[in-house]
Amino acid sequence: MNELLKTIIKNNRHWTSEGKVATYIPGLSNANPDALGICVTNLNGDEYCAGDFDTKFTVQSISKVVTLLLAILDQGKDKVFSKVGMEPTADAFNSMLTLENRNSHRPINPMINAGAIVTVSMVAGGSCDEAFNRILEFTRKITGNPEININESVYLSEKETGNRNRALAYFMKSTGAIEGNVEEVLDVYFRQCSIEATCKDIARIGAMLANDGILPWSGEEVVPKSVARIVKSIMATCGMYDASGKFAVHIGIPAKSGVGGGILASVPGKMGIGVLGPALDSIGNSIGGIKVLEELSRDMDLSIF
Ligand code: GLU
Repeated sequence: MNELLKTIIKNNRHWTSEGKVATYIPGLSNANPDALGICVTNLNGDEYCAGDFDTKFTVQSISKVVTLLLAILDQGKDKVFSKVGMEPTADAFNSMLTLENRNSHRPINPMINAGAIVTVSMVAGGSCDEAFNRILEFTRKITGNPEININESVYLSEKETGNRNRALAYFMKSTGAIEGNVEEVLDVYFRQCSIEATCKDIARIGAMLANDGILPWSGEEVVPKSVARIVKSIMATCGMYDASGKFAVHIGIPAKSGVGGGILASVPGKMGIGVLGPALDSIGNSIGGIKVLEELSRDMDLSIF
């Protein structure tokens, strides 16, 4: 397996030169555009890695998977999906279009920014610090990594420049989609996006989901099977921004990408996969990361469809 992963990284590293590192959050612009890494965790907890698998990156939108799990555990699926939909979209991840035209009280899904901000507002906690600490502790648990923390400079950079998200959130406050204090909800959202991880950490989250909510390395159930199934379905239909359909056709694995260049993928009953490649395509997905997953899926026949 290690040899296969090494070969796949070697075959696809050239793609990184065709993408660009995200710069709209200034703190992300320092990432190495040539980096490309992968880690696979199977359901026995065995780990296989290649390339820049131990390079740290901020999880960004991958955190939306974690808060969706936590919000459903805290509020139940009916309450969560009364506030956020579960339909894919053809609009960009930070779009206001459908929000204003059709879904003002209920953003279209929890994987776009508007939906994720509403989802964060449903994570329980008496204060924004408490809500964020619960997200951080839950992330540490499902990665088996107690050292996980945020990248302070990326957090401050997004907090300072995240006016698009601020606009989405205030708009949703005006429609009643967000009930709490907007700045506090945004602060938790910016912090969760700045959580720093490696391919190994996100592969483990994928393996937990692939294993129906049970941590492969300890046997502990952290999420009921029914909740793991909901989240995998939403990853499969909405996780790769407005390229989710194409990703399903070519790769066929539930996945969630982030603009930090990470992709979390989960092959039900088989494995979790974490990929990093900070150079992004025009939609915001890791250009090399997608190619790596495509080759791995083809070689191992991993498509769920
Ligand atoms: N923090 C980023 C934002 O809100 C996350 C976007 C992403 O990874 O898709 O713009």
